[in-house]
Parts: sequence; C-alpha cells; structure tokens
Amino acid sequence: MTRILYARPIKESLHLNLKTSIQKLKKNGVVPWLRVLLVGNNPASEVYTKNKKKFIEGLGGKCDIIHIEGDTTEQHFREKVRSLSSEKDLHGFLIQLPLPKQLSHIDAGNLIPPSLDVDGLNSLNMGELLKGNVHKNSFCACTPKGIVTLLDYYDIPIIGKNICIIGRSLIVGKSLSALITNRNGTVTLCHSKTKNLEYHTANADIIIVAIGSPKFLKTHHLNPSKKQTIIDVGINKSQQGKLLGDVDFENVKESVAAITPVPGGIGPLTILSLAQNLLQAAEKTL
Ligand code: NAD
Repeated sequence: MTRILYARPIKESLHLNLKTSIQKLKKNGVVPWLRVLLVGNNPASEVYTKNKKKFIEGLGGKCDIIHIEGDTTEQHFREKVRSLSSEKDLHGFLIQLPLPKQLSHIDAGNLIPPSLDVDGLNSLNMGELLKGNVHKNSFCACTPKGIVTLLDYYDIPIIGKNICIIGRSLIVGKSLSALITNRNGTVTLCHSKTKNLEYHTANADIIIVAIGSPKFLKTHHLNPSKKQTIIDVGINKSQQGKLLGDVDFENVKESVAAITPVPGGIGPLTILSLAQNLLQAAEKTL
C-alpha cells in the first residue's frame, strides 16, 4: 500500500513546540518579527506571502508585508531593501521571488543582511550550508529544510541512499543537494540538459522533483522494484485553477512506496521551516 506523506501531522507535531518557544521569547520581551517585501502583483506571490503572514501570526509572531509597485526602479528597490531591513528589533527579512523583469538580474539574497536572511539565500548562509556547518548563526533554505524534515518524520532513511533531484534552482535543487550530501545521501542532480533522465530516476531510492512542469514525472521514470519515495515540490496551476504538482500523482501512485501530495505536502513545510528559522533568529537576540 502506498504511503501518502502528508504535511499535516508534521505541522501538528511541531506547532505546539514553536508556539511555546515563541511565548517564552515574548515573556522576555522579544516578539519574533518577519518582514516580507513584495514587489508587484504576481498572484501566486500574493498568496504565498499571505500564507506566511497567517502562519507566523498564528504562532504569536509578527509579520508585516511591505508592498511596492511592480514598475519600481532598481535604485528605488535597493533603497527600500536597505531601509526596510535596517529596522531595529527585526529578526527576519525576505524578498518574495520572483522579482519583476527589470529587477530579475539582482541577486536578492545578497541584499539581505545574513543575520536576517531567514530564507537562507545570502551567499554567507549558502556557504555555511555547502560547508556542512550547522549552527545557530546561519540559516538553511526553507524548502530543502522542509523536505528533510518530512523524510525524518516518516523515517525514510537518507544515509547511503541514492537520491535523484530534478531541478537545479538555488532555492531548491542546489541547496537540497548540499543538505542531503551533508546527511550522507548520494545525490544525482538532474536538470533540463540532463541526458537519459530515466536512467537516473530508475536508479534512485528517492526522487525529488522541482521543475515547475505539471504532471511531468510518470511511471516510465520509475523502477517499482526499488520501492521508491517521490517528493513533489512543484506548484503549478491548471487552466481550471487547480493546484498541480510536477508529478503525475494518479499515474505513479500505485508504482511507488511513498509519495507527497500537492497540495498538502512540501508547500506547508516550507512555511514551517521559515517559522523555525525566524524563531532561531529571534532566540539569538536574547
Ligand atoms: P526554477 O523554475 O528556478 O528552475 C527549474 C529547474 O528545473 C531548472 O533547474 C531546470 O533546469 C529544471 N528543468 C526544467 N524542465 C526540466 C525537464 N524537463 N527535465 C529536467 N529538468 C528540468 O525552479 P524552482 O524555483 O525551484 O521551482 C520549481 C517548482 O517548484 C515550481 O513549480 C515552483 O512553484 C515550485 N516551488 C515550490 C516550493 C514549495 O514550497 N513547495 C518552493 C519553491 C518552488
């Protein structure tokens, strides 16, 4: 029987801990505070930022979303980031991606002071991840952290396993490949130029897909004899407005040992990781 790896029990089991830790901080006069900069009116970004705010505030933290126009100039954007991120008592600052076209060349992660970079996208935090340094002064990118949280919760081993990641974005694939390598998994990082993708996926114990192509992964990528685990990071919208992952869930479900759903899989765990990172940043100030 295929195991469906829902985020809900993980969120429920960690929610109370997070809430209690935040209450403790508040008693010491510290309210974990996240600020999100949203540029333009990308509908998906608006939903993501609202979800972040709702979750952080539900835990007792503070989250403000600062919205600036999509046609803002680079100079204005940089000035805004500088002033908004230098606020006293702020613990986390993030720039919601993607940025509008005229700003898309900017390395947004590097505009954020490393100590506030709860998205883990600053070169300093990325470097610490690459070095395998896990300490209270650095932050791990949220989606990779959420994926490892899920594997740990469901007791899916990483050590010595073959893990095929499809998609090499900084925020998911590349960071995840470092995180899983640090956990002694053997990573194959595939992308749009990879030849014979089926060869790599068939050899994997765990396949993680983050490419932004609805229902991409199908049974011909699988090797049922390996009892594979499938992690679907993709969030795509169908023409009818339905959320679809990068995995053809109905097509592959019966051929794998375990699979994450979309929605209700990795998405909520990304937000959970963000809250964990924010808490870590706030605890440092005590
Ligand atoms: P991206 O859009 O920056 O890059 C896509 C990557 O996929 C590239 O590395 C490209 O080489 C690879 N790729 C594209 N087509 C491919 C193919 N046919 N075969 C192999 N590789 C291919 O990636 P992203 O920002 O990581 O986003 C990927 C997906 O994950 C999107 O659907 C996005 O919405 C979703 N996402 C979800 C979360 C979450 O919290 N669940 C977080 C981040 C991204």
